[in-house]
Amino acid sequence: MSADPQKNIPQPSLDVDALREEFPILEREAYGKPLVYLDSAASAQKPRAVIDAMSHAMEHSYANVHRGLHLLSNEATTAFEGARKTAARFLNAGSPDEIIFTSGGTDAFNLVSYALGVTEINEGDEIILSLMEHHSNIVPWHLLRERKGAVLKWVDVSEDGEIDLDAYRALFSARTKLVAISHMSNVLGALTPAKELATIAHAHGAKILFDGCQAGVHGRVDVRDIDCDFYVTTGHKLYGPTGIGVLYGKKSVLDQLPPFKGGGEMIDLVTTDQVTYNDPPHRFEAGTPPILEAIGLGAALSWMEAKGIDAIAAHEARLRDHVLEELAKLNFVRVYGRAADKAPIIAFAVEGAHPHDVSAILDRTGVAVRAGHHCAQPLMKHLGVTATSRASFAAYNTHEEIDALIAGLMKTHQMLS
Ligand SMILES: *Cc1c(COP(=O)(O)O)cnc(C)c1O
Repeated sequence: MSADPQKNIPQPSLDVDALREEFPILEREAYGKPLVYLDSAASAQKPRAVIDAMSHAMEHSYANVHRGLHLLSNEATTAFEGARKTAARFLNAGSPDEIIFTSGGTDAFNLVSYALGVTEINEGDEIILSLMEHHSNIVPWHLLRERKGAVLKWVDVSEDGEIDLDAYRALFSARTKLVAISHMSNVLGALTPAKELATIAHAHGAKILFDGCQAGVHGRVDVRDIDCDFYVTTGHKLYGPTGIGVLYGKKSVLDQLPPFKGGGEMIDLVTTDQVTYNDPPHRFEAGTPPILEAIGLGAALSWMEAKGIDAIAAHEARLRDHVLEELAKLNFVRVYGRAADKAPIIAFAVEGAHPHDVSAILDRTGVAVRAGHHCAQPLMKHLGVTATSRASFAAYNTHEEIDALIAGLMKTHQMLS
């Protein structure tokens, strides 16, 4: 992303060969060929540090959290709350109390949508989204449109995934309550100007939520610098386990928010005719939380910090440049999304071939890419396609793997033309 190699400036380095050895799954083959995993934007593989942290918790320190007054419960609580501290540090939140663990990215959007639907979004109130949102950051707002009569307004994006700030500004009205917008497109890889988007939203008295399910993976995120009200990211794309997401909420905002789900842990007092609620973040974590998943996520974030967020970003920028350069040489491939500030998430079409056939043929060469609408149907419509192929890269990918992708695409072209 922003850590592009520049002349004469030493770049943080990543020992990719050593790093790959930390991922047991990368040792396996696909159809007798080396596995080339280029689907990390759908879900990333897990390093040994994550697998070990979760196994260790299960083998040594497992019990339910918070309620216990015994050794194992205290150890589990310390590990679980430690993960919250790690997530707060990772996003540069003001306090761990601003970090809510959810069951994933999708659950976090639904939490905010539900709670704001109780407190402040009513009939005719407006929510601004962009045309490149993931369905996870669209459908919860459609639910508010259906349930409360909220109005959804859409900011245009260029084919590269760039947002025209004047067009964005023009969408605000006295009824705008919220902007829910991507910090990085999962199709085009484009990073949005989060700070500017937030400043404009706040100047119009609206809150702003960022979908950071991709941006959190590929570069430094600083929620206080952005000054957002909400920020969502998800464990399984951050080299962590499934079943865990992170919702950052500004303390002053969370304090005013009612609960989403009811159950244990989120209460203060329950009687037969009354209930009062716990403070954030616990107010939003009903029932037994994803304890092991949080511990795994904490290990994943610490692992990323140890490798160096900037070193990972610099490596990924080199991969991005290399793959774009190689794809440009193939006159039968069209790439979607060439924003300057872009992660190595590459959507493309092979002339005369359906994306599903492309991925099926690539798969047989050991190369795993995704094909489909990528949970972004409004963007597909905007681009004038129904589906694309997508190759997405992570810290563990190599330049040789790009060569394998290119060779696979040449073979695909031969077979299908
Ligand atoms: C994956 C993804 C989501 C959904 O996150 P889950 O944890 O899979 O529910 C939302 N937005 C973007 C941009 C994503 O890439």
